[in-house]
Amino acid sequence: MESIRIGNGYDVHALAAGLPLYLGGVRIESPVGCIAHSDGDVAIHALCDALLGALALGDIGKHFPDSSEEFKGIDSKILLRRTMELVRKEGYKVGNADITIAMQAPKLAPYIMQMRETLAEIMEVTASQVSVKATTTEKLGFVGRGEGCEVYAVVLVQR
Ligand code: MG
Repeated sequence: MESIRIGNGYDVHALAAGLPLYLGGVRIESPVGCIAHSDGDVAIHALCDALLGALALGDIGKHFPDSSEEFKGIDSKILLRRTMELVRKEGYKVGNADITIAMQAPKLAPYIMQMRETLAEIMEVTASQVSVKATTTEKLGFVGRGEGCEVYAVVLVQR
């Protein structure tokens, strides 16, 4: 009997000048980057939380604690790969994912396709199953002031 489950994930990182910016596994040309224990890929973190949430496996902080030296500066693509191992161990595969990145600047449009392809490859699906959308918040709130980057992710998994 086929089983379908849904998960959602949310993450925020503060931004600071002079740090590298990684989103969706892609290096983005930007004057600011995320302050983080890992490489700060807030999009992958939200996606991992959505995958873990779909299977009620806890959250990214439980599996990859930011107090651990092992995860210091880690490429978040490795975290997504490890999360997918957990998903597969439960007998599930990804149906589709939809990710919304809220950031005032820089413009992310030139990077969207590369993010979709990068995430799809790791999750062993096609880019048509992975949506990445970018929005500003019309200069409102901490995102609008350029203080942080916020990401929402929804994923459907099936067995
Ligand atoms: Mg995070």
